[in-house]
Amino acid sequence: MPETSTTQPTPVSHFFFQGQTLPVSITYLQQKRSHLRIHENFMQITICNDLSHHQVKQQIQILLEKLYRQSLTKVTTETLQLLQSHAHRHIKSIRIKKLRSRWGSASADGNLNFNLNLAKLPLEVQQYVIIHEYSHLFQMNHSAKFWDVVGRFDPEYKLHRRQLRHYEKTFREKHPQ
Ligand SMILES: [Zn+2]
Repeated sequence: MPETSTTQPTPVSHFFFQGQTLPVSITYLQQKRSHLRIHENFMQITICNDLSHHQVKQQIQILLEKLYRQSLTKVTTETLQLLQSHAHRHIKSIRIKKLRSRWGSASADGNLNFNLNLAKLPLEVQQYVIIHEYSHLFQMNHSAKFWDVVGRFDPEYKLHRRQLRHYEKTFREKHPQ
């Protein structure tokens, strides 16, 4: 076992992931690669012990973005497959991006974009945003017909929409377009 050192200051105390606020435990070890593991109620990050404070923060950011991207890729792929099996619309591309002011967007020809920060929200709220954008492939507006489509995919969409508004205040994001 390599020698463990936790004498360096921990630059962050907790992260959001799938609707949970997870405390982070950072371990500094003599190793090249950094790792992030999700345990039941905390995040374990292992980082090389000869990095500067700034490099540590960078490493944590990279690990976190990787986690969010992997998690959201899985959720979007699985959810969209399920939606397509109920009512099919062609999807040209699914992209996960660092969007500033939107949770997601859809184009008429089937390009779907999702905000990386969605991975921070509870799964049912992530799914609501995915349903919202997929429903735009049936109705490219926010008419009553559009909300009918959303309601067929997610009977509790009003609740999930309210929850999304709550998180918008936390993350300063706007509603999906
Ligand atoms: Zn919309």
